[in-house]
Amino acid sequence: MHIILFGSPGVGKGTQAKLLSTKLGIPHISTGDILRQAVKEQTAIGKKANEIMSRGDLVPDDVMIEIIKERIGKSDCGKGFILDGYPRSDIQAIAFDKLLNQLGINNIILINITAKEDEIIKRINNRRACKVCGHIFILEDIKNLTKCPNCSAEKSFYLRDDDTKGVIKNRLKVFNLTTKPVFEHYKKQGKVISVNGMGTVEEVNRKIISALDSRS
Ligand code: AMP
Repeated sequence: MHIILFGSPGVGKGTQAKLLSTKLGIPHISTGDILRQAVKEQTAIGKKANEIMSRGDLVPDDVMIEIIKERIGKSDCGKGFILDGYPRSDIQAIAFDKLLNQLGINNIILINITAKEDEIIKRINNRRACKVCGHIFILEDIKNLTKCPNCSAEKSFYLRDDDTKGVIKNRLKVFNLTTKPVFEHYKKQGKVISVNGMGTVEEVNRKIISALDSRS
């Protein structure tokens, strides 16, 4: 199965992608995670991306197109993949269609997770990341913990730079202006499933699975 998980920053794409990846046995590919790793390792791409990401802007399309080309060419993507955070612009979507065409993949599905903007802002304010493994947690779930439940790092929880109030505003603006057209791009091709992202993680996950089941 070849899936694009689509939706506004903070809508829960990462959480749902991890659950789907376990259930379907295909990799979760988060371009945000790939970039954050590059920043941590101070690679050439990481150095270029760091400032752009902390402003909440988009890393240039040509960089992202190359990153995704390399990543989905890896052997673990043989049975499919779940993309989280790509494509994020019309140019990326057009380049991605071309790549899928070259690879003979014709069953791409875009799952559009929706939620109201005030709920999204609330969710982003209430999340924390582990600075060692990058895992995202809901503040409520870790408030009495000192160790990361994912990698056991001590006192590693922090509010991501791009989750601070001013940057969130810009990320939502960028989503509405530049990323939303990606939804229309795949809608025109009849490849979209929309799922209401309000509700618990488990409820949203059930909705996604049943939407995928009814499609196959
Ligand atoms: P995310 O973790 O998906 O919210 O991504 C964090 C940041 O990484 C975004 O705000 C962008 O600056 C950058 N980024 C991730 N994916 C892309 C992409 N497909 N195109 C451009 N920038 C991206």
